[in-house]
Amino acid sequence: MARLSLRGIKKRFKTTDVLHGIDLEIGDREFVVFVGPSGCGKSTLLRLIAGLDPITEGTFTLNGKSMNDVPPSRRGIAMVFQSYALYPHMDVYENMAFGARLMGLTKAEIEARIDEAARMLRLEPYLKRKPRELSGGQRQRVAIARALVRKPEVFLLDEPLSNLDAALRSDVRLEIARLHRQIGGTMIYVTHDQVEAMTLADKIVVMNQGRIEQVGSPRELYETPANTFVATFIGSPR
Ligand code: ADP
Ligand code: MG
Repeated sequence: MARLSLRGIKKRFKTTDVLHGIDLEIGDREFVVFVGPSGCGKSTLLRLIAGLDPITEGTFTLNGKSMNDVPPSRRGIAMVFQSYALYPHMDVYENMAFGARLMGLTKAEIEARIDEAARMLRLEPYLKRKPRELSGGQRQRVAIARALVRKPEVFLLDEPLSNLDAALRSDVRLEIARLHRQIGGTMIYVTHDQVEAMTLADKIVVMNQGRIEQVGSPRELYETPANTFVATFIGSPR
């Protein structure tokens, strides 16, 4: 079970206000996609949810418990970055094991989890390879598998496809959709690509300049956009 509640979330960097009061409820097992133009605050919001940056004002609760003072490693939340952020000197197996060791799992438990994650993301043939010996799509699957090994309740994915070429993008997108069906966790996914948003989301959150413009199903946004910004953003080709 993973329900997230964001209440009045604000973020300020020095003198710049980046998020101006975000209110949002996310249900258990929901696939929520944040969309919005570059610089509108999507990555910042994910980093606050992950605990990588402190919230300036407001509260974030997970299953009713405030996360404001809970460190990232104890939130049950894993983040996948656009740039993969793999450890270059470690092979795929070690990349997947590293975070799990920090969680204090036994060697046997780590092995079992890596086997499972490698199978789900079809990485068994590559466990001994270094990241530089993999394609972009394989690297991103390793980054997703590494998050999966931690068995998080919540997955945060920040533009996970944007470094991939078009063919790989649709492969990895299908992989992510399949993963969500199989593990049933709550997924929060950031993209600036409307096609990704429309095909993956149960619920789309349209952001603009640090504010939420509209929240709704893909169909609701398409059929009844709240304003011109949403209509233009959802309706325009990328
Ligand atoms: P998005 O992911 O939607 O493209 P970001 O969340 O990365 O947007 O950035 C939102 C705004 O916050 C941008 O104007 C960006 O320059 C600013 N910003 C992000 N991180 C920092 C930081 N560490 N210090 C100062 N400003 C930042
Ligand atoms: Mg971003």
